[in-house]
Amino acid sequence: MSKKAQPQSPGVCYLVGAGPGDPGLLTLRGRECLSRADVVVYDYLSNAELLAHAPVQAERIYAGKTAGRHALRQEETNALLVKLTREGKRVVRLKGGDPFLFGRGGEEAAELAAAGLPFEVVPGVTSAIGGPAYAGIPVTHRASNAVLTIFTGHEEPGKETSGIDYAAIASAPGTKVMLMGIDRLALITGRLTAAGMDPGTPVALVRWATTPRQETLTGTLSTIAALAEERNFKAPAVAVFGDVVNLRGTLDWVGRRPLSGRRIAVTRTRSQAGGLLAMLRELGADAYELPTIRIEPPTDKIPFMEVLADVRTYDWIVFTSPNGVEAFFNAFYLAHEDARDLGGAQIAVIGNGTAKKVREYRYAVDLIPEEFVAESLLEEFKKLNVEHLKMLLPRAEGAREMLAVELEKLGAIVDDVPVYRTVPETEDVSGGILRFREEGADMITFTSGSMATHFMALGLPLPEGLQTASIGPVTSSEMRKLGLPVSLEAPQHDIPGLASAICTFYASSK
Ligand code: SAH
Repeated sequence: MSKKAQPQSPGVCYLVGAGPGDPGLLTLRGRECLSRADVVVYDYLSNAELLAHAPVQAERIYAGKTAGRHALRQEETNALLVKLTREGKRVVRLKGGDPFLFGRGGEEAAELAAAGLPFEVVPGVTSAIGGPAYAGIPVTHRASNAVLTIFTGHEEPGKETSGIDYAAIASAPGTKVMLMGIDRLALITGRLTAAGMDPGTPVALVRWATTPRQETLTGTLSTIAALAEERNFKAPAVAVFGDVVNLRGTLDWVGRRPLSGRRIAVTRTRSQAGGLLAMLRELGADAYELPTIRIEPPTDKIPFMEVLADVRTYDWIVFTSPNGVEAFFNAFYLAHEDARDLGGAQIAVIGNGTAKKVREYRYAVDLIPEEFVAESLLEEFKKLNVEHLKMLLPRAEGAREMLAVELEKLGAIVDDVPVYRTVPETEDVSGGILRFREEGADMITFTSGSMATHFMALGLPLPEGLQTASIGPVTSSEMRKLGLPVSLEAPQHDIPGLASAICTFYASSK
């Protein structure tokens, strides 16, 4: 039969393993499927950040379950996948971990096969192996075992008698890994002990493995249930039983990172690239974003528009923040089609972050003072002769005018122009405000005075013992004015400088 005879070509359904949580653990093939998806049907455990790989216009359908509470019943999910695929869509069924390990991926594939629809499977990193790995536990080790048993501690809800042969699990050699069932730990460890497993068997529970919230609890078969109860150690968690757990003592690479176990709230604007967030996470912190401000055009746009029309006439353009660079160039390219319309102005900046932004627009930076503060830039200008030179200072509305005033004293002709303004963020887009209220933080970071101002305006309760980190003296002085103590100030006033100051701070407080 020729292709033309078919009324509509069927779509395809990709059963994609999302990995255990760390968005970096998605496979390249998984990302490729996501990037071409018409619709993504996703689960509770798959990290929401992964959805960003799908095209913006792709439909996103939540089919997740949390224990006992089903958003979509399994039959409904199966039917949905069949329906969407039959409609000719490219469907990505994104499932936590590996789709074929206790993920009911097999059932979904079977439904698609029965309907005669094409499907593909993209295996993923399973929490059964990747979870322990992030806790420094290799599930096999030449010296201790040659067998690995993976079992579920949670069977069909409502099932009266257990279909799991605990005696067989208990008597099997090697490592055992249990998924689910953390809420039935006392029952399960009891059964394993009764079936003859050594009560002294080392056990580790790894919760929210591979995510910034990862926690590990260790004990033995006889103690772990009580410990978990005491610590309120809840799902999702994997349990590892066996001698390999002891290897964690030397192999716990996650726990050894400089900011491991530190919960850090990062105040920043919603649209700013998550540079600091990513850096702190890389260093092991449980860092989350607390959106406090948003960048908007200035209240009065006319001065900026006038400046853009005359932009060729400047000898210097002085940028004092990455936001200023972005606001300036975005507007510049709306008003001009040719990059050469900028003219021959030299560019001065304060701070590496600002310099980096300028370079992103493919302009070189001619002057950057060693210290990232206005005073230092002024010293540099004092060394040059700036008399009668025309200078443009694109900056935030309401920013301090010291630099403009001082440059004028040096004889420069200065246009000090607001190109953006910061307004309070009113929406909790990332859920960070809720998290701060509920869980607090060990530290909060501020990268500008206005962040501090807007953070205080949110009126959030400050957790006891909260440490504060400031990017530099200007931010610190704003913080103090607001009654916020300054636990640390970065000696190098940029994002990498702040991240490294936080590491130093915690290293010395250990
Ligand atoms: N297909 C999945 C497992 C689905 S069953 C996989 O391959 O990982 C759901 C169970 O997986 C949870 O109850 C928990 O035991 C485990 N799990 C999934 N993600 C986890 C994580 N990030 N940390 C700890 N356990 C996790």
